[in-house]
Amino acid sequence: MLWYVPAEHQHIMPAACLRPTAPPQANDLYSELTARATGLPNDEFFAQMLSSQDGDVGTLPPGLGLSNADFSALLERHYPGIKLVADFEENIADPRELERDDVLGLLLKHRAGKDLSERWVAQIIAAACLASDHLWQDLGLWSRYDLSQLMMQNFPALAAKNIHDMKWKKFLYKQLCEQEGINACRAPSCEYCVDYLNCFGPED
Ligand code: SF4
Repeated sequence: MLWYVPAEHQHIMPAACLRPTAPPQANDLYSELTARATGLPNDEFFAQMLSSQDGDVGTLPPGLGLSNADFSALLERHYPGIKLVADFEENIADPRELERDDVLGLLLKHRAGKDLSERWVAQIIAAACLASDHLWQDLGLWSRYDLSQLMMQNFPALAAKNIHDMKWKKFLYKQLCEQEGINACRAPSCEYCVDYLNCFGPED
């Protein structure tokens, strides 16, 4: 759960990296975030996730699954002056912590190295992978397209491996299996696999 505390805009900052027009999912918090955005990489993606969490959309833990300190640092760096309160006491130890750490390690190993926010993106994705919807929905992004953009921007070498446009969560776990030398697939190739639609079907 996330609470948005509306505040007077101190000033409107240019946000060249944000959408030119607000999509239908945009709420008041999204407008506030885009007005305050500092023009850094991932402003748009964080704004989508934060406004979704504010509207109880998505499955991310409080504070996007970040620690209290990281959540505060993200807000201050990307949307200076915004007031958001997350109930971090709802965050309890997850028995799948090792799994989350594996996903996090995979992402960090492939980060673009262009902006420190890539680390927060990796942590947020790792938290979302523990939920059960499509990854873009768990994250509270507005479309699979946004997730693909986020992956290409933050983890370009990893994203480039997804040449057949596999579902992103499936793709990440398949990378982990391959990293460990495990082939959990029941068919020799995707083309003949009965699970094809699970891996490559639409993500709507
Ligand atoms: S479609 Fe089948 S063979 Fe291809 S990755 Fe999925 S489970 Fe493995």
